[in-house]
Amino acid sequence: MSAETRAREAICRLGASIFARGLTFGSSGNISMRLADGYLMTPTNVALGELDPARLAKLAPDGMLLAGDAPTKESFLHRAMYEERGTAEAVVHLHSTHSVAVSCLADVDPANVLPPITAYYVMRVGTLPLVPYFRPGDPKLADAVRELAGRHQAVLLANHGPVVAGTSLSAAAAAIEELEETARLHLLLHGHRTRFLTEAQVEELRSL
Ligand SMILES: [Zn+2]
Repeated sequence: MSAETRAREAICRLGASIFARGLTFGSSGNISMRLADGYLMTPTNVALGELDPARLAKLAPDGMLLAGDAPTKESFLHRAMYEERGTAEAVVHLHSTHSVAVSCLADVDPANVLPPITAYYVMRVGTLPLVPYFRPGDPKLADAVRELAGRHQAVLLANHGPVVAGTSLSAAAAAIEELEETARLHLLLHGHRTRFLTEAQVEELRSL
């Protein structure tokens, strides 16, 4: 089986798993992988639970559609991540409920939206900057993501949702799932006196 065939099947398996667990809804959310000769991307207007490996969009390195259905209208988010992160092999973007809820909170630190609640969050996601809100389709959103993507594997789009890159599809999936769980914990802890990891504990994890 070729690397591209394996990648197509892995994207569809992940999409089905994400959809079945209610991590994104309707036709929201999109997944992509880098190939030796371009990118594979989930198509526009298709639920992640109903992906067909043969119909994924295949894009040239410059973003031109080579084969398959038209890519997600949010393909620019993925390309911004790949172009700024040479190590990114996969990108996942979801409208996962708790992450979206956190993306709407007032008075967060835009440099790092979520506190260090658990070690796994710190190790898999690290810091999470907030990208300012832009209407869908506004090219300024791509520029804003591009500005942060070089330094961060995960960003949170204000009033929208997370975009996470990984060195593999499973790494990107694990990170966005950890982010969603941490967003849920953050909301659960709201109003409770909480003991977050200390700065020294976070530093120790970052040096691992
Ligand atoms: Zn979106």
